[in-house]
Amino acid sequence: MRRILILGVLFAAMMCPACTKVEGTGRSQLMLLSQNQEQQLGEDAYRQILADSTLSNDPRLTSIVRRVGERIAAVVDRPNFVWEFNLIESDQVNAFCLPGGKIAVFTGILPIMQNEAGMAAVMGHEVAHAVARHGGERVSQGILANLAGQAVAVGFRNASPAAQEAAMAAYGLGANVGVMLPFSRAHESEADSLGIIYAAKAGYDPREAVELWRRMKAASGQRPPEFLSTHPSTDRRIVDLQSQMGGAMQIYESGVVQYGLGEDLR
Ligand SMILES: [Zn+2]
Repeated sequence: MRRILILGVLFAAMMCPACTKVEGTGRSQLMLLSQNQEQQLGEDAYRQILADSTLSNDPRLTSIVRRVGERIAAVVDRPNFVWEFNLIESDQVNAFCLPGGKIAVFTGILPIMQNEAGMAAVMGHEVAHAVARHGGERVSQGILANLAGQAVAVGFRNASPAAQEAAMAAYGLGANVGVMLPFSRAHESEADSLGIIYAAKAGYDPREAVELWRRMKAASGQRPPEFLSTHPSTDRRIVDLQSQMGGAMQIYESGVVQYGLGEDLR
């Protein structure tokens, strides 16, 4: 019996370096990538996406993306992140935050965001995926591990296109990989809980997150937005957000500044 116990403890000690805790929720996660590996992957993928994209030439909207992003970044304690915020000209209804704080918003999602608080809801959620290292966790869990692991091992730029695609898929960005792309339910609800707190701390009315998901759901009628292929919208999400609203409102109302809904994006 004692022997089994000792073996158990030894095994746990061996496994521990591979486990981390998500800050803000305390959930344990399997993590085989170092922060550096993950951030390098994010950095490389971001460069590639920007090189293949057209940035918006609308100075007002670009500065709003930057402003909302900076306010969220300021309340997220990640000194090792090198934050970047860009607005990409595209019909795609999408937005993402890669490891290391590399954020992009596509102009196609602006009508659904509608205002700065809506943008803060999406950004808070995306930043939460990056802070909680959901992409790295997916790679570690063996989802897409073979291919994405290759990109980690050899570096994104030198990896085969398939490996690059798999690494992007781990961060919810893959388009052609044909494997599971959506974040898991657990990752989604964790990003939602952390995201409304970030938005509230940043000074934006957290209640807009509920309205945002209602608009997202309404838009999923004819042609489902790209955002929904990686962020399945459920009524459950809205119910969960509403149940956490009391705490988020307290944070919002006791904050130094309240921007409310902020500027209209239309
Ligand atoms: Zn998500």
